[in-house]
Amino acid sequence: MTKNLFLWITLGSSLVGNAFAYGNAGHQAVGTIAEHYLEGTRAGQEVRTLLKPGEGLDRAATWADRSKLPDKYPSAEMKEFVANNPEHHSYHYCDIPFQEKAYREGITGTNPHDIVHILRLCIQVLQSPEAAPENPLKLNKRTALMLISHYIGDLHQPLHVGCSYLDEQSQFVNPEAGAKGQADAGANYYHLTASSTLHGYWDTQTVKHARDHAKSEDFTTYLIAHFPSKPEWNGTGPVGTWPEQWATETLGLAKQCFEDIKVGDRSLVPKDDKHEEHFEWKVTLAPAYAEKSRDIVELELTKAGYRLAAVFKAIWPEPVAPDEKAPTKP
Ligand SMILES: [Zn+2]
Repeated sequence: MTKNLFLWITLGSSLVGNAFAYGNAGHQAVGTIAEHYLEGTRAGQEVRTLLKPGEGLDRAATWADRSKLPDKYPSAEMKEFVANNPEHHSYHYCDIPFQEKAYREGITGTNPHDIVHILRLCIQVLQSPEAAPENPLKLNKRTALMLISHYIGDLHQPLHVGCSYLDEQSQFVNPEAGAKGQADAGANYYHLTASSTLHGYWDTQTVKHARDHAKSEDFTTYLIAHFPSKPEWNGTGPVGTWPEQWATETLGLAKQCFEDIKVGDRSLVPKDDKHEEHFEWKVTLAPAYAEKSRDIVELELTKAGYRLAAVFKAIWPEPVAPDEKAPTKP
């Protein structure tokens, strides 16, 4: 390993901890789109009662990331959440081998405090805290609302669900098929330049490309207009099962993130206070990658906003008017 190579790896690693999934811009867009779909609904009113005056879902959607920075955002409720949730960094993702077809309980890259489990718990808490008797994370309704508003966004970032695993020859392998491989840490171990990772690229560069694509149009107005909602965006069955369904859908997109990358030299990174000794890789992207990833992100942000609203509407359905109720037999 050359000194320069070590330097860019060190620089890259130091950025990993600060990465905000989809960046603030992406998460805020998800919150704003959800507000659009909640307009005039009972769910919208219920959401409003849990928010502070002047606080919108765009702001709520970044709460979980802000709570990672206690020095910058020293709010009492964030401190309480972090104290009760020492594992909160892992709530934002799962690391399923991208070759897999579905999120399944217990497979490689899933765990009891991954994004799907936490979303399920948050939904239970919002439905009724009593319905979530096992609430070891001590979430209240407001905290659950904040977390859902963020994690639904994360659930639509392909690298927050799918992960690649590489063997000694830096070839993709699937640990679920019995092969041994090292995880790419949500592509945080893939370096595009000295200061950027593939994960960061999907968090912020893709959103920037999408915003540029909208040109002078308001970003969320552009997304809502260009991606009208479709019936297949809705979850099926109980709302608590929707996060798993959507994780499976996003896993399909994760495959595409790895299709058009070229994995180059790897380097061994020594153990530090955050990571065990591990390998990291240089990667390059195919020429069409920017446009393809931008198109994916535009659709995913819109879907995430629609689905965030759909979750709230399922938790707080519209009251049924008396004349719409099924007639009772005499
Ligand atoms: Zn996140």
